[in-house]
Amino acid sequence: MELVEERPYRFRIDPRRGMRVPGVVFASRELLRDAEKSLEQVVNVATLPGIVGASYAMPDVHWGYGFPIGGVAATDIDAGGVVSPGGVGFDISCGVRLLAADRDRQALEPALPALMDGLGRVTPRGAGPGGVWRLSGHRELERVLEGGSRYAVEQGHGEERDLRRCEDGGAVTGADAGRVNERARERGIGQVGSLGSGNHFLEVQQVMEVYDEPVAAAFGLAAGQVCVMIHCGSRGLGHQICSDHVRAMDRAMARYGIDVPDRQLACVPVDSPEGRAYLGAMAAAANYGRANRQLLAEAARRVFRRETGSRLTLVYDVSHNLAKTETHRVNGEARRLCVHRKGATRAFPPGHPDLPEDLRGVGQPVLIPGTMGTASYVLTGVSGGGAFHSTCHGAGRVMSRHQAARAVGGKELRARLEADGIAVRPLSWRGLAEETPEAYKDVDAVVEASEGAGLCRKVARLVPLGVVKG
Ligand code: 5GP
Ligand code: MN
Ligand code: MN
Repeated sequence: MELVEERPYRFRIDPRRGMRVPGVVFASRELLRDAEKSLEQVVNVATLPGIVGASYAMPDVHWGYGFPIGGVAATDIDAGGVVSPGGVGFDISCGVRLLAADRDRQALEPALPALMDGLGRVTPRGAGPGGVWRLSGHRELERVLEGGSRYAVEQGHGEERDLRRCEDGGAVTGADAGRVNERARERGIGQVGSLGSGNHFLEVQQVMEVYDEPVAAAFGLAAGQVCVMIHCGSRGLGHQICSDHVRAMDRAMARYGIDVPDRQLACVPVDSPEGRAYLGAMAAAANYGRANRQLLAEAARRVFRRETGSRLTLVYDVSHNLAKTETHRVNGEARRLCVHRKGATRAFPPGHPDLPEDLRGVGQPVLIPGTMGTASYVLTGVSGGGAFHSTCHGAGRVMSRHQAARAVGGKELRARLEADGIAVRPLSWRGLAEETPEAYKDVDAVVEASEGAGLCRKVARLVPLGVVKG
């Protein structure tokens, strides 16, 4: 792929083959080694009707279903812009929640084994059913779908303050439980408060380095502090919704005169019956994902209280797989856009009106998991940040699950991590091996590129003390 280097960490792909806008790739050449297939996807996304600005790729970009993971694309809703489920992904509203303990590592060190055992026990995980919250029935599932974390907190699963530290106050508007079909409900009803498998995790971490003390303090973070990071999404319910709507849009596209270079990019106008149906169901799945993280956090809080008497305070909860209606300036004009972020994190700058008051001066916390053997980051949004205020979402895979499992055995990996002082509570050896740190890019390099590209700023670096793996 021919990339024009515009400035460090920013490359352009000039329009060709039906592209309506250029591609813009934020990365270093090093990070783009073996990225050819995902760059093809950046090109394909640029052909979508109504796309504005550019088809963007974040530094952790890698191949995904239709859109690359680490892709951002916005379409103009009032000019026939489309929505595409492939631009959100199968794990709708997959995201990260970070909680900070009121203790530092030294204070909690002696209790770590008991903490890890407790967290391993209370965290439902794996592919099957089972969750922290047993819903009373389908009526209650509807309340979860429409109320997200807000409903969970109303039912006693959390503190009112949590909601101020959740994207959208814990519940996305526009959710329509009526759009969630029987099959998706069946898959979802028994999984509220569960991790899922593979890449999803609950990790105990320590703040290793603080780059900006005032901002870290506003987030509730300080050097040495113990934290809990939770990464999970909307489980089988979100997956079902994505599959169903990809199929429905694939059939409907022709009626809207839409032709895409890859069937996985199935899409329809945002403002169409099929578009509204998807967005209503997607928002419901997003609320399910948020309630899911809220419940897992509550379970972790109970373990911390019981084992150590310490409290966990929410730093933030943000998803990295979502399409949202946002207003941005395009060619100097305010436009209503459908912003797809798939494996990309919203990063609102200081002063953004949608931020809660206590974060307004510093910007939105951006939570970036790295790997269970290296580091994770907390970043913040910056004024003038690109890609409709978006940045990376992780380190980004370089090895397939299969390749990773061939490269290392689970038991061997656990021994290596434990030797580095990282406690491991795996579900299966195979699952653990698939997530070996070598399967991912260097998170330090990804974050450096994201900051260097002007998408965000570093606030803190966290290292793992123990991981509960799905
Ligand atoms: P995704 O949402 O694309 O599945 O994963 C997001 C990111 O999570 C990955 O790119 C990877 O960097 C990170 N990740 C996966 N497993 C772990 C883990 O066990 N611990 C941490 N800290 N990060 C992980
Ligand atoms: Mn996920
Ligand atoms: Mn994810």
